[in-house]
Amino acid sequence: MWSPSARFSALALLAIVAPATIVAVLGYVSIRQWEVSSELLYREQARDMATMAAEKVEMTLRRAEDDFLDRLQAALRTEGSPGRAVDAVLAGSPLIRRLYLVGPRGELLYPRAWKESDAALFGPLVSEPALRKVERSGKRVVIAENQICLARLTERGGEPIVVAFLRDGDTLRREILETTLGALESPTIIAVLDREGRTVYSRAPIGDAQRVLSVQFRDTLPDWRLAVYQTPGASPRQAVQRQVMFFTGALGVLVAVIVAGIVTTWRLMRRETEMARLKSDFVANVSHDLKTPLSVIRMFGETLEMGRVTDEGRRQEYYRVITREGERLTRLIDNVLDFSRIEGGRQTYRMTPTSVEPLVRGTLETFAYPLAQQGFKVEVSVAPDLPEVAMDADAVGQALANLIDNAIKYSADDRALTVDARVVDGQLVIAVTDRGLGIAPEEQAKIFEKFYRVGRSDTQGRRGSGVGLALVRHIAEAHGGDVTVESAPGEGSRFSLRLPLGRS
Ligand code: ADP
Repeated sequence: MWSPSARFSALALLAIVAPATIVAVLGYVSIRQWEVSSELLYREQARDMATMAAEKVEMTLRRAEDDFLDRLQAALRTEGSPGRAVDAVLAGSPLIRRLYLVGPRGELLYPRAWKESDAALFGPLVSEPALRKVERSGKRVVIAENQICLARLTERGGEPIVVAFLRDGDTLRREILETTLGALESPTIIAVLDREGRTVYSRAPIGDAQRVLSVQFRDTLPDWRLAVYQTPGASPRQAVQRQVMFFTGALGVLVAVIVAGIVTTWRLMRRETEMARLKSDFVANVSHDLKTPLSVIRMFGETLEMGRVTDEGRRQEYYRVITREGERLTRLIDNVLDFSRIEGGRQTYRMTPTSVEPLVRGTLETFAYPLAQQGFKVEVSVAPDLPEVAMDADAVGQALANLIDNAIKYSADDRALTVDARVVDGQLVIAVTDRGLGIAPEEQAKIFEKFYRVGRSDTQGRRGSGVGLALVRHIAEAHGGDVTVESAPGEGSRFSLRLPLGRS
């Protein structure tokens, strides 16, 4: 059969831990799915955003260049041959670093001569095939790594004219890329890369950010790409992983709290059960302890009453037995009554200055008969210069009697008892030493608990209620002192009752 505490634990496990586990598993599975889908969603959004941003850049650039070409066309219409008006348009267009106008047969119309090495750069571009390409497309073409654009305009006479211009990299970065990409609201880093993958522009330092994806620009910047980067720790996967960790941690704490609660309740219940068992043992032990001396008293009393014992020596012996058993009964009843007063919080102590030696010897005297009968070797040593100590003499006498009673009760073959009293470190120490059964180290703390008795095999045949040492400890503590034990199984025990001197 299961004990109530085991049943409770099993129920608690079913009622709390099982649902918690199910929640944990479901939570974990859904978070994993969320992780995958959020990653996909994020990539999709990043691609849309990159495409949009690239389109915006191209639109802005196209508009700026169209505007420039419109103004140039207007200037060409006003002048017979390109001159000042073209100069003015060029001066107002920072995006255009160099401008050349070429006639239909490849002759340079503006400026008068090629600048620096431009002839080598522009020469082949404005050659026949390139011009025909412009002619065919009817609009602007971008060549030479996004730097040079060719376009077709007409001069005043209606003759076609080819415009070749070189973009200014700095202005392109500042006025086109920065103004369009810099204004985008997005936590990611957006960068523009050239054909070799070098960064032409980036909204923030890329550092160790990871590239998520890149999209190609179209006809305005055909060789470049727009790339989206993710700063470390900011990806949705990592955000979800943080959530997973948080969730797991919270769940762990929850489970730990639940388990701690169950363990504590289980311990309390076990303690309660143990207490109930100890209490019922106590009742049985006390009843037994009361009955035994009573039947001895009755038996010897009746024998004496009937006048059957004629021998005076035997009679005296019977009287002594009756007195000893009476004393034993008184001690037991005192113990039980004091214990119940302590439990009910009604016990009071009356402190009076007391001489230690008479108290020790007087208490020991009450055990003279059993000590002599069982052949105990008794030693008493009381330091000669002991001062009077403030104490409740009855209570301390009772504590000492309990210690002596135990020393006799738990003795073995080597029957020796020593009681010594002296001052150590400003405290009166009364120690009772025996060479009896001794107490195992793991039991030494427990024996001072109420109702506790060491396992049956050791105490077999020895009567006791289990409250004697609890009482000794209570009395010691009520005096501001304590009681300790030094013991080794098979070698004996030494109980030391310490009381402070200071209060006398
Ligand atoms: P009890 O009525 O059982 O003697 P106590 O509270 O006086 O109750 O003691 C608790 C337990 O401590 C005893 O049951 C016994 O096992 C152990 N004990 C106490 N004194 C001694 C001793 N001098 N030697 C060995 N064991 C002892």
